[in-house]
Amino acid sequence: MTEMTLSSLTRDEAQERADLLTVDRYDIDVDFTGLLEGDAFRATSTMRFRCRTEGASTFVDCAAEVESASLNGQPLAADAVTGDRIRLDGLAADNVLVIESVQRSTDQGTGVHRSVDPSDGEVYVWTSFEPDDARRVWACFDQPDLKAPVAFTAAAPATWTVVSSSGDPSAIEDGDGVRRWTFPDTPALSTYVPVINAGPFHEVRSERDGYDLGLYARQSLATFLDRDAEELFGLTAAGLAFFGERFDMPFPQRRYDQVFVPDLGGAMENWGCVTWSDVFVYRTEPSPAERQMRAAVLLHEMAHMWFGDLVTMRWWDDLWLNEAFAEWACFWAVTSATEFGDAWASFLASLKLEGYRADRAPTTHAIRQPARDVAEATAGFDAITYAKGASVLKQLVAYVGEDAFVAGLRSYFAKHAYDNATLADLMSELAMASGRDLDAWTTGWLDTAGTDSLALEPTDGGGLVLRAAGPDGHEPRPHRLQIGAYDRGDDGLVLRDSISLETSGAVTEVPPAGPSHLLLVNDEDLTFANVRPDAESLTRLLESAGELPTSTGRAVAVATAWNLLATGDVSTSDLVRCVTGVLATETADTVIEPFLGLAVMAAERWSSDANRDELLATIADTCLTLAEQPGTRRQVALRSLARTATTEAQLAALEQHAADDVDLGWRRLVRLASLGQYDAAAVDAQSERDPDPDTWVRALAVQTAQPNAEAKEAAWRTMVDELRVPMGSVAEVSRAFWRPSQAQVLAPFAERYLQILPAASRGGMIQAMSVAAAMFPWYGVDESFADRAAAATQDEDVSPIVTARVLEGVDQLRRILAARG
Ligand SMILES: [Zn+2]
Repeated sequence: MTEMTLSSLTRDEAQERADLLTVDRYDIDVDFTGLLEGDAFRATSTMRFRCRTEGASTFVDCAAEVESASLNGQPLAADAVTGDRIRLDGLAADNVLVIESVQRSTDQGTGVHRSVDPSDGEVYVWTSFEPDDARRVWACFDQPDLKAPVAFTAAAPATWTVVSSSGDPSAIEDGDGVRRWTFPDTPALSTYVPVINAGPFHEVRSERDGYDLGLYARQSLATFLDRDAEELFGLTAAGLAFFGERFDMPFPQRRYDQVFVPDLGGAMENWGCVTWSDVFVYRTEPSPAERQMRAAVLLHEMAHMWFGDLVTMRWWDDLWLNEAFAEWACFWAVTSATEFGDAWASFLASLKLEGYRADRAPTTHAIRQPARDVAEATAGFDAITYAKGASVLKQLVAYVGEDAFVAGLRSYFAKHAYDNATLADLMSELAMASGRDLDAWTTGWLDTAGTDSLALEPTDGGGLVLRAAGPDGHEPRPHRLQIGAYDRGDDGLVLRDSISLETSGAVTEVPPAGPSHLLLVNDEDLTFANVRPDAESLTRLLESAGELPTSTGRAVAVATAWNLLATGDVSTSDLVRCVTGVLATETADTVIEPFLGLAVMAAERWSSDANRDELLATIADTCLTLAEQPGTRRQVALRSLARTATTEAQLAALEQHAADDVDLGWRRLVRLASLGQYDAAAVDAQSERDPDPDTWVRALAVQTAQPNAEAKEAAWRTMVDELRVPMGSVAEVSRAFWRPSQAQVLAPFAERYLQILPAASRGGMIQAMSVAAAMFPWYGVDESFADRAAAATQDEDVSPIVTARVLEGVDQLRRILAARG
């Protein structure tokens, strides 16, 4: 297969086409039968559209092989087909365009993807289009502001189920082992959201509050999906009720399906038919953090039904708004409408810290950026878009008040549903609802890169001010925030006063709160800022973080310390002591795992060789203490024990706990292999007893962890050269590859990483991005490597998206090397 470089639609081209055309509908007939044993996906796309200027010319997008093309009954000239576009001349007022095409590139995760289950050989096919992959699969006017209803029909092997975006399909036998499926019209949608998927799926359905909910997964995952189906249905129903009420607009379709598929990264908000990576069908009893993460993803994609699908950005430059909104809305919904009331604390301890990390790096950028073409819009997809974007919207909610925010959203949805809108449309509704001028807010928060700093300072008169500093000499943004004044009580810290503050400019007076043991700046985590305590306050913060009474307060303390680790103001040992102190008393089950993750990350990555084992052993002891507690706390503590067990006693305890736990058994084998104790027979036995159809990936992680060049070489081939590790497992395998105690073995692979950067850009964009980020070397590298990595991105064959991931890594590596000393 040769990878065709596709043209990227420009904003001007899109505008011109939208001015000329109104698309009335798509009728898309697809043929899955060629994928049962081959690679051919066939489609016939019939497009009915009007043209405002008779006789005018335009083009339709089609990056599949065109087999026939006719406009208004007349075949198009052969030379009208030019790569990924088909020229259309002499348009009438009303037009019918019919394009038959075939796509044979169906194994790259681009547009349409065919997966074969490694355990039973069954074939599954999914489609996924954002931002402009629909054109790879069928002909269409592939831009967000030419919305039209779509009616799908499909031929598929008789044993397969076809699942798509609209309501109930009919299916009839068509002889020769083929069934024909007919779906009703979707509402008017942008081309990137209606999809069709097929395969011999395991299907579970449930009727909730008038909605017909469906879940689908591979046959080999049936028992795992069944185990969690009730939870997923409950979350789906709760989400539809919550958003429907809050947005004052019920989801307008009875059917809402969620399809778990192999080889997809993350999840995608296809209208009424969300596709998920099936790593979310957990192969072992999920931990509280995993259940909460899955709830957040479920509600993120669901929020897009309104924000993205019903109201769609006019052009891709507002794509960040789609993502930031869905990310904010899902944590809002998780906290308000599910059992996971501490979700904002978890958000801070994981995603928001990623936002801070990205915003510290020289690659950071303003949240809002112009996008001249589609490629430019998607290149900016990162933690700034999602995590910082969501944090900034959380700040906006605090700034205008939740009631005004919801009122603004309601009129935004009412005005623009089934149509397109821009950021300005949203901000004007919010300004109207809140009675506040939001222009300065918008410019400050969305058009300036970098993070503000906040510090309390005593005044001459014995009072306090909050000093704000903008990044790189910029004016600080306006912040709405809380300062918690805590006293020491019998059982830890007690909140005496919560000071509500709105800053303006550099210095804001803080109302007197009397002497306190601790003043926690950004309590409640309303704003996005680096908090910089003075030396004495920092000592108190680190020592008494675990005594704070709320999960969010404790997470604010840990996040403050983590950001100060990155700037060299807190040592790795102090950070680990602070986090283990919090873990000793933490009551919110869902944040224990992210906190443990931070402690392990600090010990593995940020500590010097001399300190590492001692820190790991300290964490392992914390894990053993936590493991004595019942239920899920035991589970996550043992998972981290498997990453940190260092002493003989800790390893023996791990062995004992892993005896009847398949998941922990794998984790233990990775740990042992990394310590040079690889046991092939144990891996085989483990594979035998594990019902997961994808055990080969877990076995690969164990092999990879060994401290020898042959094992690393074999893993490198599978992971990097052949890109065979499923997207959802890349992080797990790469973590087993890069082990802190293996610097010497790993050093040559750090050099290899630099060599593959130009080639990394040749595969699919998402895969390239994920490999470039996941395989960034943290061990066996020094300052000179950081310099060479930065220089390597100068190669013109290294794509911008890979360059961004590498330069973020370089910035982080330099901070880590400084912390190691
Ligand atoms: Zn999203």
